[in-house]
Amino acid sequence: MRFARIFLLVLCALFSLQAVAQSAATDDPQMPTLNHFDANQVDKSADPCGDFYKFACGKWQAANPIPPDQAAWSVASPLQLWNETVLRQTLEQAAPSNTTRDAIGQKVGDYYAACMDEPGIEKVGAKALQAELARINAIKAKSAIAGAVAHLHQSLPGAWQGDDNQTTAALLGFSGGQDLDDASMVVVQIDQGGLAMPSRDYYLKDDERSKQIREKYQAFMKKMFTLSGESEAQATADAATVMAIETDLAKVQMDNIRRRDPKNLNNKMNLAQVKALTPSFSWAAYMAAVKSPTTHHYLVSSPEYFKGLEAALKAHPLDHWKAYLRWHLLRGSAAYLNKDFVEASFDFYGRTLSGTKEMLPRWRRCTRAANRDLGEALGQAYVKRAFPPSSKDRMVKLVSQVEKALGQDIEGQDWMTPETKKQAAVKLAAIEDKIGYPKKWRDYSTVHVTPASYLGNVHQATAFELARQLGKVGKPVDRGEWLMTPPTINAYYDAQLNTINFPAGILQAPFFDADQNESVNYGAIGMIIGHEITHGFDDQGRKFDAQGNLKDWWTKQDGEEYEKRGKCISDEYTQAVPEAGPDVKQNGLLTQGEDTADNGGLRIAFMALVNSLKEQGKSVDDPGPDGLTPRQRFFLGYANAWCGNLRPQVMRMQVVTNPHSLPKYRVNNVVSNMPEFQQAFSCKKGQAMVRENACRVW
Ligand SMILES: [Zn+2]
Repeated sequence: MRFARIFLLVLCALFSLQAVAQSAATDDPQMPTLNHFDANQVDKSADPCGDFYKFACGKWQAANPIPPDQAAWSVASPLQLWNETVLRQTLEQAAPSNTTRDAIGQKVGDYYAACMDEPGIEKVGAKALQAELARINAIKAKSAIAGAVAHLHQSLPGAWQGDDNQTTAALLGFSGGQDLDDASMVVVQIDQGGLAMPSRDYYLKDDERSKQIREKYQAFMKKMFTLSGESEAQATADAATVMAIETDLAKVQMDNIRRRDPKNLNNKMNLAQVKALTPSFSWAAYMAAVKSPTTHHYLVSSPEYFKGLEAALKAHPLDHWKAYLRWHLLRGSAAYLNKDFVEASFDFYGRTLSGTKEMLPRWRRCTRAANRDLGEALGQAYVKRAFPPSSKDRMVKLVSQVEKALGQDIEGQDWMTPETKKQAAVKLAAIEDKIGYPKKWRDYSTVHVTPASYLGNVHQATAFELARQLGKVGKPVDRGEWLMTPPTINAYYDAQLNTINFPAGILQAPFFDADQNESVNYGAIGMIIGHEITHGFDDQGRKFDAQGNLKDWWTKQDGEEYEKRGKCISDEYTQAVPEAGPDVKQNGLLTQGEDTADNGGLRIAFMALVNSLKEQGKSVDDPGPDGLTPRQRFFLGYANAWCGNLRPQVMRMQVVTNPHSLPKYRVNNVVSNMPEFQQAFSCKKGQAMVRENACRVW
């Protein structure tokens, strides 16, 4: 429930075996070749004013089909593989056979070795879960459900905390986080959860495709129950039971549109009030089991969910809840078990939900798990290797130029009163820039890792992380903490800390490219910087003040003017997405914050480029050696960073669950709102990239 706004690059998790083969030509035979901006990639037969994305990306798209083990493939895919290859080398060097490794090497090396030990994992098979299943089967009363849920939360990642829009935690999410009204205070946050499909819509929508997915989900559950040792009949019954319980929970979840308004999540309660929401859930037993610290109050994101959970706890008999607990144990453990479980899980989450045809090679799955569980130990070597001080210096300068541009942009708005502008300037000046990696690395010394048990290591790391989150409660806020590991290809704005955060993983080509001139860099990474800063002033971010408190600093009139401009954006992005299917429609209310950040981000990045060139006595319209002006390079550099191909399944999932627009619309909607773009390619009124009712917030 943290109001960190994740700038999610869904296109990132991409790689193919071809990419590995191609890499043979580079200096280091193991390293893939990164994509760099290339003006020759432009499809000159397309009309930039008719479909700019096609103009910039069409040739690339045709030449880069999606590999079978990917749900999508983009210009960032080789970078993803490059980053993972660096991590793999670190992990392999720290193998148990290395007698000179240090304490950090021992943790990451043993973790990776345990994960890569496929024969050992096969040998143990489903027996790895015997003790955990016996624990659930021994439950004698509904009052013991809470303790079993606590145990799941302490042992399986994702079982205790979900993302911003819904939680896949067993039954509920429970964590430590900043209070909304007083950002200096860390309290216990309790969130809705309980589903193993991506969102409530997957349970409730009535169209044919949704029904088919539910049928496949039930077959998947049955398969997993069978693998765990249940009879055919029992597995069939359990799958139906879990479907019924999760559907009950889906019905009472707050939807992702209402969750976008922080006011709806700001429900402070004392312990008696929490208990009164769900008296049949033994809160005392749960809190004792997870060692929940004393908290000033509890922040309950959706009280209605917990009332609904009470009804579900009453309505279903104990045996049904035991099936539910077994299910969440199985699906949460599947990735760490033998092949049968791994493949069954991939078949549903990979093939059915994402359209991916083949699983990633094991080394990549193990590298990602190590990055998730021990990321700040593993990330130290990545930073040394991939993020030189020169990159950091250049990035610091870029960020300050883009921040300066947003200040000018706010100052120039004719719809804002001086009073609100002054407050906005205070907030902008207070934004803290975090670049590359944390100042202080996380200490994993209490995580016990051995080369003998992958599942056991995951349990260890999960217990550590839950305890770490809850350990923050009642203590001063740690402003230095990062929500992403250094090799992550992503960035975020954190509304409650008022920070922008750029992991070293995204400060590489094609986003940040030391070999490119500045117009391309401003279009690619400059826009991403602008995007994150603009989040502080989007329809959610503007509700938080410079200190990260949920506090209205807008005059009434300015607030109303803002809403008008925001509505223009959400109306514009409420649009058909034919690539994802004939009936698929984007909801602009879900994507409003990200779309506002895309539009504002590109505009202020452009302003920053204009400023920078001016300082050098140059102009954005000076013709370059290849005939392209800096203005044209800027917009091409922007579009290039978003070139990609996505499977329709993944597009549909993104439209329903993800607050970001699809890449094509991140490019075309934004540029069609911008006269600065239209001037670059001499677009005329009436052409598709010249929007009649152009929107602009920032
Ligand atoms: Zn964003």
